[in-house]
Amino acid sequence: MRIRRLKLSGFKSFVEPAELRIEPGLTGVVGPNGCGKSNLLEAIRWVMGEASAKSMRGGGMEDVIFAGTATRPPRAFAEVVMTAETAADAQGRREDLEVVRRIERGAGSAYRINGRDVRAKDVALVFADAATGAHSPALVSQGRIAAVIAAKPAERRAMLEEAAGIAGLHVRRKDAEQK
Ligand code: ATP
Ligand code: MG
Repeated sequence: MRIRRLKLSGFKSFVEPAELRIEPGLTGVVGPNGCGKSNLLEAIRWVMGEASAKSMRGGGMEDVIFAGTATRPPRAFAEVVMTAETAADAQGRREDLEVVRRIERGAGSAYRINGRDVRAKDVALVFADAATGAHSPALVSQGRIAAVIAAKPAERRAMLEEAAGIAGLHVRRKDAEQK
């Protein structure tokens, strides 16, 4: 799957609607500390269905909504639109995918895929089929790098197994041993 475009509005520090086009090839995001680089990565995870406020560095999910500053009032909602192209199927066909997640204060999250209202579960399924998603090992957050370096060997092994997609085998083995 290729992410083509991101639109953010009221999401964390992106108070004004912002649109980013991601061209083929390697993309780098540069800027001073606190300018919103990590917030961008979090927007990608969030629109793909991230359910943990903690992994969005917040206490509750509404913390992703622009909270206001001394000169700007807070926003009532946050919205992220991700336009992506699916990986080529056996016939070489790619599909366009537009996923929208919106959260309003007091109203929770709502999702749309290609203009249709869907459940969080449907979004998770789309990305699970594409072997990506909010918990994909392809998305490595800043703190995670330090955690890998500081980890004890057994912990690091667990991380590598998770990345290799074999962590589930341990659960199944334990299950089988108990039978
Ligand atoms: P670094 O280089 O230090 O990693 P960064 O570019 O990754 O910085 P981010 O962590 O993405 O920066 O952005 C942090 C900024 O986002 C902070 O200034 C913080 O106040 C702001 N921010 C986060 N959530 C909100 C929110 N809900 N409303 C307004 N601002 C927010
Ligand atoms: Mg950062």
